[in-house]
Amino acid sequence: MVIHYTAMTSAEAALKRLCLPEAEVSAHYLIGADGTTWQMVREEDRAWHAGAGEWRGLTDINSRSIGIELDNTGATPFAEAQMAALEVLLPVILSRWDISPENVIGHSDMAPGRKIDPGPRFDWQRLERQQLAAQRGHSDGPQDAPMDHFRTLARDIGFTSNVDDDTLLAAVRLRYRPWGSGPLVPADFTPLGHTALWT
Ligand SMILES: [Zn+2]
Repeated sequence: MVIHYTAMTSAEAALKRLCLPEAEVSAHYLIGADGTTWQMVREEDRAWHAGAGEWRGLTDINSRSIGIELDNTGATPFAEAQMAALEVLLPVILSRWDISPENVIGHSDMAPGRKIDPGPRFDWQRLERQQLAAQRGHSDGPQDAPMDHFRTLARDIGFTSNVDDDTLLAAVRLRYRPWGSGPLVPADFTPLGHTALWT
């Protein structure tokens, strides 16, 4: 289950593009800012929404996932009606295909450094509260060099793409701490289910 934003100015423009064969992009669903939901590809069929990337060691995400595009430029908050429509659609798809909340991800989770959608304005916590995305517990863990430890934990929750430290950190932050910046800090470990022990 991969969530995107369209990076376009209107749902109509996005619809047009997603239906153009030569654009070579498609998604199963598009949700407009007003909550209107369009289905463009049958769930059992492959759509071209994910591209190159990796999640939990799996590649060819297009063949294994359902893509939902949200009409949003990336520069504005997601509309309430749109989030409400997503919350109606998601549970139905998750139960139909037996998809766990851990596998509801953003495009940036599977393509760190290449994609940033659905971006820092997407309200993941809202989905987490409804078990529509994975929430991490807090516990203490073993500690080697902070970045090695961070890489291990990120890999454990699915960030298996082979990217450099900064790119990985940026991708995990986009998902869990979009306000985070600068070098790795202890707070970066919290969403991964561990408290950082280094000082
Ligand atoms: Zn995307």
